[in-house]
Amino acid sequence: MCPAFGGLRVLMRIDGTQVCMAADQGCLYGLTFVSHFYVARRSIVSPELMNVQISGGTMIDDLRRTIESIAADPSVRFIPVVSTCVAETAGIAEELLPKRVGNAEVLLVRLPAFQIRTHPEAKDVAVSSLVKRFGAFEKPRKERSLAVIGEIFPVDAMMIGGVLQKIGVESVVTLPGADLDDYAQAGQAAACAILHPFYERTASLFASAGVKIVKGNPIGANATAQWIERIGEALGLDPVKVRQVAEEERQKAREVFAGFSNLKGSVIVAGYEGNELPLVRLLLEAGLDVPYASTSIARTPLGEEDHELLAMLGTEIRYRKYLEEDEQAVLDYSPDLVIGTTALDSFAKERGIPAIYYTNNISSRPIFFASGAASVLGLIAGLIGKKEVYRKMQEYFEG
Ligand code: SF4
Repeated sequence: MCPAFGGLRVLMRIDGTQVCMAADQGCLYGLTFVSHFYVARRSIVSPELMNVQISGGTMIDDLRRTIESIAADPSVRFIPVVSTCVAETAGIAEELLPKRVGNAEVLLVRLPAFQIRTHPEAKDVAVSSLVKRFGAFEKPRKERSLAVIGEIFPVDAMMIGGVLQKIGVESVVTLPGADLDDYAQAGQAAACAILHPFYERTASLFASAGVKIVKGNPIGANATAQWIERIGEALGLDPVKVRQVAEEERQKAREVFAGFSNLKGSVIVAGYEGNELPLVRLLLEAGLDVPYASTSIARTPLGEEDHELLAMLGTEIRYRKYLEEDEQAVLDYSPDLVIGTTALDSFAKERGIPAIYYTNNISSRPIFFASGAASVLGLIAGLIGKKEVYRKMQEYFEG
């Protein structure tokens, strides 16, 4: 998948957005397909950029004309100009583009795959570009307000809001958001919780503006309690109340784990979303064995706590992984379940091993707090018991 897809997901979900793409026709064809199919069912608009326009020196004029024609629609409030791999478009000078046309803000977002290697990292580029341009850092900070960074399941967002309200947080804005104003408000937050380890540019942008950064996420019993306490500390909330809520949430998650005490088996986790290691942490806490985990992103300081914990508990971790490494792990460890990419899942199923697609099954369900743990562990319990079924299917097809 082209990495720019991650950035398009962030940009196209903002209300009133019409993307203007500065790319050649090949990128445009593929990214128009994914933007319809996986993102917002919206089209991308682009000037015709064939070799004659790119090398003929009219590209900037063509782009400006396209931006103006998009802005002629008064319902368009935001025009992200997305440049991709083509060298000439990747190097577009921002000063040559307008900042605002008609009702619409215009923002250049560079998403070349030779520099931004995965779609999680492209999400980070898009979010940080939006916060940098629109974040109201110059306005007074709102006390007890939190910016939460990470694309999460809607129920998780509601759960986070509910728990944070109990400890005294007064406002929460979650990014990537559907409103440009979310990005403005995030600049006034007193602290910023980064849920996923690949939001490095976004984290350093907030940190350089003096906003406190909270690492981690409320996944599993111990990490949930720790996350709540970190938020309380960052916002200077009542420590007694914070500890009480943290312990309540820890206890609820432990009760979920107790309900799955018979869950045994080994699982390989191999996604490309960049948020795989917290899932591994949850599985290990539930008593499962995870001999191998891999992700598409690089090792980052924001993910270091998970890395150290998982490595200590014996999980072999691969960053910037290749499919061949994942396949070798399936052969080496012969797990009871694979939560992987589509290609790896096919490889596992052909060998009679239950396998599910990480993105469709994990990223599209709640995972935070006790209810998220129950949802994920319920799914896994149902699949681990199916090894015999997959073995019979393998025999059937081989026969
Ligand atoms: S050339 Fe680059 S931007 Fe275009 S589709 Fe391929 S990876 Fe994506």
